[in-house]
Amino acid sequence: MTIHFPFQNTYSALPANFFARVAPTPVAAPRLIKLNRTLAVHLGLDPDVLESPEGAEILAGKRLPEGAEPIAMAYAGHQFGQFVPQLGDGRAILLGEVIDKDGVRRDIQLKGSGPTPFSRRGDGRAALGPVLREYIVSEAMFALGIPTTRSLAAVVTGENVMRETMLPGAVLTRVAASHVRVGTFQFFAARGDTDGVRKLADHVIARHYPDVAKAERPYHALLEGVVARQADLVARWLLVGFIHGVMNTDNTSISGETIDYGPCAFMDDYNPAQVFSSIDEMGRYAYANQPRIALWNLTRLAECLLPLFSDEQDKAIEQAQFILGDFADKFTAAYQAGLRKKIGLFTERDGDEALIQDLLDAMAKNTADFTLTFRRLSDAAGDGAEHEVRDQFTDPTAFDEWAARWRQRLADEPQSAAERQAAMRAVNPAFIPRNHRVEAVIAAAVNNDYAPFEELLTVLSKPYEDQSEFAAYADPPLPDQRVLRTFCGT
Ligand code: AMP
Ligand code: MG
Repeated sequence: MTIHFPFQNTYSALPANFFARVAPTPVAAPRLIKLNRTLAVHLGLDPDVLESPEGAEILAGKRLPEGAEPIAMAYAGHQFGQFVPQLGDGRAILLGEVIDKDGVRRDIQLKGSGPTPFSRRGDGRAALGPVLREYIVSEAMFALGIPTTRSLAAVVTGENVMRETMLPGAVLTRVAASHVRVGTFQFFAARGDTDGVRKLADHVIARHYPDVAKAERPYHALLEGVVARQADLVARWLLVGFIHGVMNTDNTSISGETIDYGPCAFMDDYNPAQVFSSIDEMGRYAYANQPRIALWNLTRLAECLLPLFSDEQDKAIEQAQFILGDFADKFTAAYQAGLRKKIGLFTERDGDEALIQDLLDAMAKNTADFTLTFRRLSDAAGDGAEHEVRDQFTDPTAFDEWAARWRQRLADEPQSAAERQAAMRAVNPAFIPRNHRVEAVIAAAVNNDYAPFEELLTVLSKPYEDQSEFAAYADPPLPDQRVLRTFCGT
């Protein structure tokens, strides 16, 4: 049986140095463990076909769907500040692009599908744990309303991969608006290939920033667009307590989606300096450092675009600096607007920023759970009962003092308590993919029990609803359940 995907590929039509043509390496005994049926339908794919044995073979890279033009994309990147001129998809293969039900072009990529010409030391494979982590967290981000790559499927390969220990191998099917990263631009810029930079810029303008094509200076407008989307994205991360963990330039998407869920995690207690990633020893990618790092990564993108800005380098640099200068304002505006909503303020008054900062400071000092504090505050805004918020603070009087000021400020707001509560509940999730839950799901899956994985996905698909039967999923970890370190998929 041949299975046809409605591919309409454009990246594989770019010049040959943009990628390497390479097919996935077949695996021994693929078994589909999860198909995102809703997403399949959205992509114009038949979920029943994908669930057939032949479909599972496609999702494992054992068989190619008709119309696929498999490629590994070339890219470079700054990893923890160090430039690596050639990275590229070392364990991922783009099968092709489809147009989804919204008319948006989407990449369908297999991750963990075998070596490519860009694999340097790795085996091109992925272990089951990181595949499930990416599946869970990317789908949770989607449900939270945050731009992200999606997960279409997870397959176990029937083969083991050697890491510190032997682990079951798996393949994730990732769906993205595109896989073009800041590092893709760096690949061409580092080779002095201005024509490559221009072709790539034209490709992403057509694909992600079509309005920019009409601008007087399209390449400047492209940088403005990427700056705006990244500023908004990082603000959204902070507003839900998300820590990406590896904000290298090769993990910074030009489309503005969250990409590459490695050692990422949501924090439990609010701590601006929080780091989980085992490889981030200096705290470069700590929670509160993320806006600064996003700007650093955007500055690397701007450097690549300089030759397209002007033949006169001084002029080009000045123009780039001007555009990058907008990042701070855009980030702060998005972040502050989000925080105001989190505490139920619809209007803007002097002193709001200080009020919010004082709450965050009290939370940090009193190890308050980030998610629960805001969720319980939403309920307190409705019925006035504050004991559940107070309980989040080691010294509840720290909350009481703040709450008195908050109540006074709310008195100026036109909304009813019920309206305010509903608005706050719509931005303050009850359920996030807490690390200890993710770890427990992975531990069960490695023992072939996927029921906890399914249940966690169900809970996280409606993060803003109370789901009383799953109330325990909102709880922070007990002291012995706390996860202190997360690891990359490598
Ligand atoms: P990532 O951590 O997925 O962002 O990967 C960073 C770089 O390392 C990319 O070039 C990957 O393709 C490469 N890489 C990561 N894991 C492997 C692996 N198991 N085999 C081959 N290359 C890998
Ligand atoms: Mg990466």
